[in-house]
Amino acid sequence: MQIRRRTLLTMMLGAVPATAAKKRRALIIDGQNNHDWKTTTPYLKRYLEETGLFTVDVSTTPAKGGDMEAYRPKFKDYAIVVLNYNGEDWSKETEKDFVGYVKGGGGLVVVHAANNAFPTWPAFNEMIGVGGWGGRTEKSGPYMRLREGKWVPDMTPGRGGHHGKQHAYKMLLRDGAHPITSGLPKEWMHAQDELYDNLRGPGKNLHVLATAFSDPSTGGNGEHEPLLMVLPYGKGRVFHTALGHAAPAMQSVDFIVTYQRGAEWAATGKVTQKLPADFPSPDKVSQRVP
Ligand code: ZN
Repeated sequence: MQIRRRTLLTMMLGAVPATAAKKRRALIIDGQNNHDWKTTTPYLKRYLEETGLFTVDVSTTPAKGGDMEAYRPKFKDYAIVVLNYNGEDWSKETEKDFVGYVKGGGGLVVVHAANNAFPTWPAFNEMIGVGGWGGRTEKSGPYMRLREGKWVPDMTPGRGGHHGKQHAYKMLLRDGAHPITSGLPKEWMHAQDELYDNLRGPGKNLHVLATAFSDPSTGGNGEHEPLLMVLPYGKGRVFHTALGHAAPAMQSVDFIVTYQRGAEWAATGKVTQKLPADFPSPDKVSQRVP
């Protein structure tokens, strides 16, 4: 009886840490944003948890004007950091920790307005490839333009970052061989969102997975704009989604799927998630409304 009980206990204890050990730790950073981060962070958290791959912590910075010197999350404890942050600069120490984390192999996921953050931090702009607003101009780097199937830097002077009217739009797959986009259809509909255009930045090693046409009829610039991107930074992997302005956009199944896959890829370099049956078709939006 005693042996049996011990065996059961060993089995139970053995089973729990084994399952937990498979999950990687993710950290979502929010706290300042010109977007409704209090509403969107729970989506970002839940989507990561739903993969079964991550346990998720949320780190909320001091509010605007608060003591940013005291803000120093332990990035290195995590497999990925998700930025839902567009606010004041961090301390030099925290910036240094963050650069060391990504350079050393940490995963980074940049969501929508997080690419507006830190316009004057060179390493951050190298990590995200392109960004918008915050006073970004030609001094921040080129626009990236799709010309005859290739991404070409364009140093035309002008501001970085713009969008037309919010609307549902068609996404175009540009690389179906990447783990994040493997198996995705060539085109699909994305639910109502902003369509960022004219982002600019160093654009170094930027690899575009999917775009959307920024239609002048909705106030766009007439270009195919990069909206899902990946890039290396040191040993780290960065997934950058310009999608996700607010809840309706984050409920769009393509946002969910590419975010979940992008997070796994940033953490491990692989994607094990299957494409769900409710992925949007080329002419119909698909949303998961909680
Ligand atoms: Zn927005």
